[in-house]
Amino acid sequence: MRIGIVGLGLIGGSLAIDLRRQGHYLLGVSRRPETCQQAVSQGMVDQAEPEMALMQSAEVIFLCTPLGALENAVDQLLPHLSPSTILTDVGSVKAPVVAQLAPRWPNFVGGHPMAGKAESGLEAAEAGLFVNRAYVLTPTETTPPAALKTVAGLAESLQSQLYYCDPVAHDRAVAWISHLPVMLSASLIAACLAEPEPAVAELAENLASSGFRDTSRVGGGNPELGVMMARYNQTALLQSLLAYRKQLDDMIQTIQQQDWSGLEQKLAQTQQGRTRFKICQ
Ligand code: NAP
Repeated sequence: MRIGIVGLGLIGGSLAIDLRRQGHYLLGVSRRPETCQQAVSQGMVDQAEPEMALMQSAEVIFLCTPLGALENAVDQLLPHLSPSTILTDVGSVKAPVVAQLAPRWPNFVGGHPMAGKAESGLEAAEAGLFVNRAYVLTPTETTPPAALKTVAGLAESLQSQLYYCDPVAHDRAVAWISHLPVMLSASLIAACLAEPEPAVAELAENLASSGFRDTSRVGGGNPELGVMMARYNQTALLQSLLAYRKQLDDMIQTIQQQDWSGLEQKLAQTQQGRTRFKICQ
């Protein structure tokens, strides 16, 4: 199959590596010519250039630009496509993306491979990034079944675990398990950095160990991605932040009241409840 990747960064580059290794012919478009050259010289894609015209022979195109660049990229892309071309995106937020892109191109399938890391850009791309990770597809009643089947087949070929849901349900779910954690983790780092006594601050920096590493990881990631999560998933993220604030207030009150048995009960519930999340089992 001739597969196009628009946006050769962490996700686009990682997709290209795995799909090309399966024998597909990979075409890449990215904003900077040097990124395109690098993707070709490293064997991630067969051809790459900044011009969307390169995509005219692609059968399936993965849109892997930052969320804010998607709409514009698709507008530039459309004049070069044949009606059978399938477009799919990898954006971390689905409802606004599907609402923007599905009316522009009927052969569109919303998608979100749920894999990532703190680094961004082509240098961060790696083989096998999607293995055993969730790949969510968000079809609507207008999504052509054949396009959905093709994208699902490609996602499965990455050894991802396929999930189907509607775009709004996706955004509410990822607010809980992805977008809220980024904001909490960032707030944790900011609170620690605001320690007023320099000697204590320095000691904390030196003593930080696995607990801080685990809880600060997602708050120390790509700021552009965090802003995009908040901007495009504002409603669901605010709902989850407000619910979290209530939990935090309850926690403060419990500790102020020295209600140690209440605290133990709560921590026992969260210890047990955590196992319901697949990755924690
Ligand atoms: P990234 O590493 O920054 O890669 C995006 C790449 O797109 C950039 O390296 C840039 O390459 C290129 N680009 C930017 N604007 C462009 C444009 N207008 N036209 C063509 N190329 C353009 O970002 P990413 O982490 O891969 O994220 C990409 C998408 O994946 C986002 O929609 C995000 O929501 C989604 N996603 C991210 C993660 C994650 O954890 N990172 C996980 C799942 C999904 P050059 O400027 O070098 O050409």
